[in-house]
Amino acid sequence: MAKVGGAELLRSLRAEADRISALGKDLRERIDVLTDPTAAEAEVEAVRAAAEQRAATAEAKAADAERRAAQADQFRVEADAAAEQMSEELTAAQNRASAAEERAQAAEADRDAAVAKARADADKRIAYAQAERDAAIAKAQETWGDQWGLAANADIRRTQCHVHVHIGKLLEGVETPDFVLVDGPADIPVPHQGGGIWIHPVSGKLHVHLGEDAPETLLMR
Ligand SMILES: [Zn+2]
Repeated sequence: MAKVGGAELLRSLRAEADRISALGKDLRERIDVLTDPTAAEAEVEAVRAAAEQRAATAEAKAADAERRAAQADQFRVEADAAAEQMSEELTAAQNRASAAEERAQAAEADRDAAVAKARADADKRIAYAQAERDAAIAKAQETWGDQWGLAANADIRRTQCHVHVHIGKLLEGVETPDFVLVDGPADIPVPHQGGGIWIHPVSGKLHVHLGEDAPETLLMR
C-alpha cells in the first residue's frame, strides 16, 4: 500500500466534506419539497376538489335520473287513472244503452200487446154486430118477406149513446132513386160522418140509402 502524505490526506478529506455538504444541501431541498405543508395541502386540496367535483356531477346525474323516474311514475299513474276512468265511463254508457234498449223493448211489447188486444176487441165487436145484423135480417125476412126495412138514424137524431137499429115493415111509396145496390149484408157501407142509413131488399140484393137524418120514420109503427 502506498504511503499517503499528510497534505494529500487533508485535500482528500476536504473534497469529501464538500461532496457530503452538497449532498446534504440537495437532500435538504428534497426534504423541504416533500415536507412543505403548503404544497402538500394544495395538492391534497386539488385532489379532494376534483373528487368532490366528480361526486357532485354524479350526484346531479343521479338526482336528474331520479326526477325523471318519478316523473315517469307520475305519468304512468296518470295514464292508468285516465284509462280506468275511460273504462268506467264506457261501462256506464254501455249500461245506459242496455237499459234504454230494455225499456224500448218493454214499451214495444206493451204497445204490441195493446194493439193486439184492441184488434181482438174490435174483431169481437164486429163479429157480434154482424151476427146481430144477420139475425135481425133473418127475422125481418121471416116476418115481412121482402117488405122489411132496417133503419138507423143519424147521430144528431139519436137519443141513445149507441147505434140503435130499427127493424120493421117498410112503408109503401118511400123508395127513392138515391141508393147503393149491394149483394148482401157484408157489403153494406158504413154511413159517413154519422149520417142515417136505411136498407131494404130488392130482387135478392139490398138497397142502401144514405144521407137521411131520420129513416126510422120510413118504417111502419
Ligand atoms: Zn130502395
